[in-house]
Amino acid sequence: MRKLIDQFGREVNYLRLSVTDRCNLSCFYCRSDPGSCGIEPVEGSLRAEDYLKIGQVAAELGVYRIRLTGGEPLLHPGLTEIVGGLASLRGVKDLSLTTNGILLEKMAAGLAKAGLNRVNISLDSLDESRFRQITNGGKLASTLEGIDRSLDVGLRPVKINMVLLKGINDHEIEKFVRLTLDRELDIRFIEYMPVGGQHSRWSKYFISLDKVLEIAETVGPLSIVEGDHGGGPARYVRLEGAAGKLGLISPLSRHFCDRCNRLRVTADGKIKPCLFSNEELDLRPYLDQPEQMKNVFLKALQQKPDPGRSATNSLERMKQFEGMRPMINIGG
Ligand code: SAM
Repeated sequence: MRKLIDQFGREVNYLRLSVTDRCNLSCFYCRSDPGSCGIEPVEGSLRAEDYLKIGQVAAELGVYRIRLTGGEPLLHPGLTEIVGGLASLRGVKDLSLTTNGILLEKMAAGLAKAGLNRVNISLDSLDESRFRQITNGGKLASTLEGIDRSLDVGLRPVKINMVLLKGINDHEIEKFVRLTLDRELDIRFIEYMPVGGQHSRWSKYFISLDKVLEIAETVGPLSIVEGDHGGGPARYVRLEGAAGKLGLISPLSRHFCDRCNRLRVTADGKIKPCLFSNEELDLRPYLDQPEQMKNVFLKALQQKPDPGRSATNSLERMKQFEGMRPMINIGG
């Protein structure tokens, strides 16, 4: 099988494909302005078949993991078709989705049937009113139902993404940690990134993940879980006897550029070699020219930055976020 290797020897086998930049929530760390996210399709956005063409080219080049994201991917009216099409591509072994879970209770079974393997669900608070505050109106019960339904229909592993925010949800670390004791959930704590021009807010709410391990150790003995864990950037530990794992994703305090295995495609068809760079290459002119599209992929691969020149501390990293589009437009 063909492999995509960049000029620094990293194998790129993972595509993060955003299928919309619309969302039904408006999480305060995700958008630069706190207004409500619309749910109407954006003009110029791609059709379901276009995402399939992109997925096909990526798979032919050696990508075997695809994650659908957004915006909120469950809002895309053709999502089941996209999932079915990508799942049937030769070479694709792992098809996953990142979602806020609001619509998942209704959609999980159909997506699993169409070929989706697993889900990551964003859940930043277990307290109803705090959840509503962080998401700008979201209903906690809907996301919790989405989580239960995903487990029921076998979309395993179910990973929970919790962006840690100082003074907002950091007092809930222990509750989240304890969730892994008897539920088969991988709880991943994520450092807040100042994406989309929110530096002043970031300075106020950023907190490194050190506190997570300190608190987890008070709950019980921890052991490191080795393995590649689906090719993601998390480091994992497990509480003794726990059903689920605890993951730590530290893009600021402990970057993982030397292990980067991914390319991103935005909902408007731009390929991004690196999350921390504003470099983008347009795939749209080549949707019906797969050979040319392959060349754009290869160009993006070669533009992946040198991991040896990555930021070495949180402050340097923070500067790299200047001028970046908000996460909702990139695809988280
Ligand atoms: N709507 C889906 C969801 O809520 O999971 C998918 C898109 S969302 C942009 C994907 C992920 O990006 C979420 O897990 C979210 O927590 C993360 N994210 C967004 N903005 C972030 C930020 N500023 N710092 C850290 N993570 C962020």
